[in-house]
Amino acid sequence: MNRYDYIIAGCGAAGLQLAFAMSEDPHFRGKHILLLDAEEKKLNDRTWCWWEKGSGKWDHIITKSWNSADFMSNTLEKTIDLGEYNYKMLRSSDFYAFVKNKLSVLPMFEWRTGKVLEVLESDGCAAVVTSNGRYEASAVFNSIVDLKSEAKQSNHPWIHQHFVGWFIRTEKPVFDDSRFTMMDFRVEQKGNTRFMYVLPTSPTEALFEYTLFSADLLSHEEYEQGIRDYLQYAGIKSYEIVEKEAGVIPMTTHPFHRKNTPHVLHIGSAGGWTKASTGYTFYLSGVHSRRVCEFLREGKPLTSFHSRSRFGFYDAVVLDMLQRRNDVGAEFFTSVYRRNPIDRVLRFLNEESTLADEIKVILKAYPRRELMKSVGNTLM
Ligand SMILES: Cc1cc2nc3c(=O)[nH]c(=O)nc-3n(C[C@H](O)[C@H](O)[C@H](O)COP(=O)(O)OP(=O)(O)OC[C@H]3O[C@@H](n4cnc5c(N)ncnc54)[C@H](O)[C@@H]3O)c2cc1C
Repeated sequence: MNRYDYIIAGCGAAGLQLAFAMSEDPHFRGKHILLLDAEEKKLNDRTWCWWEKGSGKWDHIITKSWNSADFMSNTLEKTIDLGEYNYKMLRSSDFYAFVKNKLSVLPMFEWRTGKVLEVLESDGCAAVVTSNGRYEASAVFNSIVDLKSEAKQSNHPWIHQHFVGWFIRTEKPVFDDSRFTMMDFRVEQKGNTRFMYVLPTSPTEALFEYTLFSADLLSHEEYEQGIRDYLQYAGIKSYEIVEKEAGVIPMTTHPFHRKNTPHVLHIGSAGGWTKASTGYTFYLSGVHSRRVCEFLREGKPLTSFHSRSRFGFYDAVVLDMLQRRNDVGAEFFTSVYRRNPIDRVLRFLNEESTLADEIKVILKAYPRRELMKSVGNTLM
């Protein structure tokens, strides 16, 4: 049987969070839902982190959480108490295994491995063409997108969060794993926004990611040299590389939602669920997944799922500035972390802030001239 109520095409962060949200909502009991992915999703292909107030849905499978963070630049060295927030780290392999295991015992879900070739509207329903056949459903949730071709066609600001990370292990205890390094801008900027991100998971283990927010990618060796230099600078000479990861995450206000149709909703990065000014996607995918369930429960049209928010405007301003003046990122983030209490910053980044919070963050940010220019560019 090739006809389903719903199809989730692409079972990564967004697809599996949506499936999990459906599994918890009585409205979907008795529905027939197909989960499609090209891979079995058994590998640890990325590490997700996010901020969250108090306890959360994935607490029992996270690797580590921190309540304290370091922010560093040439003009600011600050240890920040995250207050009510925790920064949580989840290995993707633990997430895939847990969610797949939960869903596998529910008869409403069917998992098929295959390459998705096309997703289309078809006579009052949606169809997914794969390497193994064609499937139809009253709605398809699609997280598969060709980002390179979208970027080429876009006339919106589009840069990337790009990085290479090394999980290293040392023989002797050298890390303080009670706090992590959110951003260390003391690395040479070379005309870009470059920083080191460090997640110590024990006194002898940590993930070091050499990260840029910029348009152009580096050669793989340049990121790795950045990590080597930083480790040397930190006095860490003897270590073993246990695992590596790399990522290129879109930072853009490109209107991905315009591809939504009455029966196809784009989700995850493909749906514009990546926070444009930070690259964070995991937490917001949970928020949006619960909203998708609400939409289906209430019979609202999928074409009205996207709603314009003032956060899109703030993101566009920051991206415009970083695209025009990639060298001012260190100054900008330093001003945000220096001049605001951390709970205001985290509320702002999680899109949970009030208008008063947002005005304060904006008015306190530098470089003011460049920001005002970007406000003008964005309003035009
Ligand atoms: C290394 C790395 C680290 C990251 N760290 C963070 C972080 O700390 N915090 C955060 O919020 N975000 C992070 N991100 C960004 C973002 O959260 C992830 O990219 C996230 O996985 C995006 O979710 P998604 O569902 O849109 O895409 P994905 O999780 O990539 O899911 C898409 C799925 O589609 C499948 N697929 C692709 N093409 C096809 C095809 N043709 N046919 C069938 N299946 C297909 C893939 O196998 C995949 O399972 C990170 C990204 C990377 C790469």
